[in-house]
Amino acid sequence: MSVLPIRVLGDPVLREETRPVAEVTDAVRRLIDDMFETMYAASGIGLAAPQVGRLERVCVVAVDDVAYALVNPEIVQADGPKDKAEEGCLSIPDVYADVIRPARVVIRALDRDGNAIEVEADGLLGRCFQHEIDHLHGKLFLDHLSFLKRRALLAQWELEKDQYPGFIRVLKANGHRSEHPEEEL
Ligand code: ZN
Repeated sequence: MSVLPIRVLGDPVLREETRPVAEVTDAVRRLIDDMFETMYAASGIGLAAPQVGRLERVCVVAVDDVAYALVNPEIVQADGPKDKAEEGCLSIPDVYADVIRPARVVIRALDRDGNAIEVEADGLLGRCFQHEIDHLHGKLFLDHLSFLKRRALLAQWELEKDQYPGFIRVLKANGHRSEHPEEEL
């Protein structure tokens, strides 16, 4: 398994639509395993393929020691009251904001073995599913914010982005130490 470089805000791959995976092959499983390795190295709780420069419709999530590899995930139900919580993103390090999303979702996907699964989730897991599935359609958590809030965060990012030449974030062997490790997805 390999830790992959993470693409950060400004890399156009983060805005691309992913392609559905026709079959869960060994190559897809290798990507899943590398994505888990990368996510754990970054102390994140979710990672989507475009964040490592890939356009397969694949993401990984690990919340409360339960890990999910999701191939071709889709939200089939989103309801309940809207819920507001702070989010961050491994592709926009050190930038955080409150994001409003449906409190509960039901998703369908294929797992690492190609079996169809359906998962109902709320709380942090439900939020993480929504954040990662957004990534698979070129959408970032910033897109959920008001114009003014987004502009303020982009100004903050302008000051930080030079740390990532080529829009690439290379993880150190000991991992990124975030002050908000639970919220980076
Ligand atoms: Zn993210």
